[in-house]
Order: sequence, then C-alpha cells, then structure tokens
Amino acid sequence: MTSRIQLKKTILVAGGAGFIGAQLCSRLLSNGANVICIDNLQTGRAANLADMMGKTGFSFIKHDVIHPLIMSQPIDEIYNLACPASPSMYQIDPVHTLKTSVLGALNLLRLARNKGARILQASTSEVYGDPQFSPQAESYHGNVNPVGPRSCYDEGKRAAETLFRDYGVQHGVTTKIARIFNTYGPGMTANDGRVVSNFIMQALQDRPITLYGNGLQTRSFCFVNDLLDGLIRLMSMPPDVSFPINLGNDGEFTIAELADMIIRKTGSVSEIIQLPLPIDDPRQRCPDLSLARKVLNWQPKVSLDQGLDLTIPWFRRAALMEARAIEVLA
Ligand code: NAD
Ligand code: UDP
Repeated sequence: MTSRIQLKKTILVAGGAGFIGAQLCSRLLSNGANVICIDNLQTGRAANLADMMGKTGFSFIKHDVIHPLIMSQPIDEIYNLACPASPSMYQIDPVHTLKTSVLGALNLLRLARNKGARILQASTSEVYGDPQFSPQAESYHGNVNPVGPRSCYDEGKRAAETLFRDYGVQHGVTTKIARIFNTYGPGMTANDGRVVSNFIMQALQDRPITLYGNGLQTRSFCFVNDLLDGLIRLMSMPPDVSFPINLGNDGEFTIAELADMIIRKTGSVSEIIQLPLPIDDPRQRCPDLSLARKVLNWQPKVSLDQGLDLTIPWFRRAALMEARAIEVLA
C-alpha cells in the first residue's frame, strides 16, 4: 500500500496558470501525478485552472518565482514555464521579466537541488534572436540584440539556459532545456497580443487585421498538444540528455500567409492593414527538428491547417463572451 502511494509523482509547474502551463497541469494530473501549480497570475488566469481546482492531487500557490520557494513536501519534477511569452506582455515591465527568467530559474534550480528533483526549462526560439541561418539548429548560437525592446526576454532566457547548464555540471541536478517555437491552440488568452490570437479575434469581429511590416517575416507554428507531448517526453529522458532541444513545428509560413488562412477559415470580411514592424522583430524562424526526432523520437503531428481548425472555435466562444459583456455594459 505504502509503495503505491510513493509511486505517485509530485510535479511542480511554475507558470501553471498560463496558456501552456494550465494544459500541462491538466495533462499531468490526468496521467496520475500530484500537481502543484505556482503562478503570480501576471499573464495567467485563475479561469485556466477552474476545471482542476478542488480535484484530488491538484493545488495552486500564488507566488512570484523571483522570490525563493519554500516547500515542505517531496517534489519529483519541476517544469519552469513562469514568464510572460507575448512580446507586448513581457515588455510592460522588462526589468521584472529579466528577474523572472534569471532569479526564477535560480530559485527553481535551488529547489530542484534541495528536493533531488529533475527540472525542465521552457526556453525559446528567441535565444536565436534574428537568425542568420534557417532552419535554426541547436548548435547555432544566435544573433541577439542585448539592448533592444526584446532583450529582457531573449537575454533572460539565454541566461536561464546557462544557469541550467551550470547547475547540472556544478551541482549534479538533472536538467532539461526545451527551446520552444511559437505555440498556439485553444486556451490562449484572446487579448494577449500574439499574432494567432490577434488575427483570429480581429477576423471573427470583422476588425482590420493588423499586419506588422510587409508580412514577409516567417514563423513556424506548433499546436499546443504536440508541444505537451514533446515536453513530457523530454522530461522523461535520461540525465545525459541535458542539452537544449528544439520543440516546434517545421512548417514555415509568412505572417501574410497566416492572415490569409485565418480570413479564409473564418469567412471574415476583415481588410488587412499594415502597421510598422516592431524593432528587432525576427525576420525568419523555423526549427531544425533533427535532434528532437533522433533523441526524443518525437515530431509534431498537427499541421497549421488542422491546428487552426481546432483553435478557431475556442476564439469564437471568446468573441461571443466579449460581445455579451459589451451588451450587458451598454
Ligand atoms: P503565458 O504568458 O500564457 O504563461 C506564462 C505564465 O507564467 C503565466 O501564467 C504568468 O502569470 C506566469 N508568470 C509570469 N511571470 C511569473 C513570475 N515571476 N512568477 C510566477 N509566475 C509567473 O505564456 P505561455 O505561452 O503559456 O508560455 C509558457 C512558457 O513557455 C513561458 O516561459 C514562455 O517563455 C515559453 N515559451 C512559450 C512560447 C509560445 O509560443 N507560447 C514560445 C517559446 C517559449
Ligand atoms: N504580428 C503581426 N500582427 C500582430 C501581431 C504580431 O503582424 O497583430 C507579427 C509580429 O510582428 C511577428 C509575428 O507576427 O513578426 C509573430 O508575433 P508574436 O508576437 O506572435 O510572436 P514572436 O514570434 O514575435 O515572439
């Protein structure tokens, strides 16, 4: 009986109230783990956790990871997803964003060391900056501006990778680094400023589609379920798999193509308007997934075409709720 109880893993998810984090918590809970969600609710929402609140094995602690965590219970695994991911969100308080990445990583690594837990860092394709090579392989060291509006995020994530590497070497902590490329899907916050949420909401509400620049910059979009599979697979790897691994989808699209797809799929009459390209906006982004395929035996299954079909209904409900709220307030 005792051994059965011990077999149940306790997994801490920092940033667990966010878009990816909440779905990761839900998946881990369904897989039979106890899940502790830590979040300061900066960009995450309590509503994302509503289905899990009160369920056996799930608990939520409101906490900012820039401060140390003191936990009494044993912890087997830690996923560090705590950090705003949308450029418009992480640029609101850039100093706090940098603290989140660096001090947050440090505090969670210390916790992992104290608990003998393995720990995974949600890093990003942003460590490649505005890449001079495409697709981006993990061996590419990137082209990042250290003093631009995106630097708080890019450099913070780069420093966090260094801390993960050094905690592994210096303190023997089992660390994993996932370099995540643009991820989307149901559960995104409608007004978080990212391109998929902006374009779908604009299209559904027949508002102008805000194309930044000429729209020829590219991104590679990963459906959230594929990403969750990759993260969980990476966490289960042996300790020597401590090097960064790209997780994403290698289908590459221009942002103008994305706008056209969304207009077509939603049947919108929105016009496309051009706004200035933000400073340091990467011109291309596409993951080289060779390492993920070889080491994790993982690859994305959901194409952008399929993923948008699965995502648009979520935003349709969000647009409907927004319309109802406006009616009530009028
Ligand atoms: P999100 O903004 O929806 O979620 C981030 C979560 O972290 C939120 O719940 C937020 O409240 C929480 N958080 C932020 N700062 C915190 C702090 N100091 N202390 C505690 N909690 C804090 O973003 P997401 O899309 O779910 O991304 C999750 C993680 O994945 C992030 O670390 C992000 O950098 C990384 N990532 C995401 C993408 C993507 O396309 N979604 C791409 C690359 C990397
Ligand atoms: N973008 C756009 N219109 C929008 C939001 C974003 O054209 O309303 C562009 C943005 O300039 C970038 C790409 O879409 O080239 C992806 O932006 P996002 O903020 O989603 O993520 P990023 O990959 O830049 O972190």
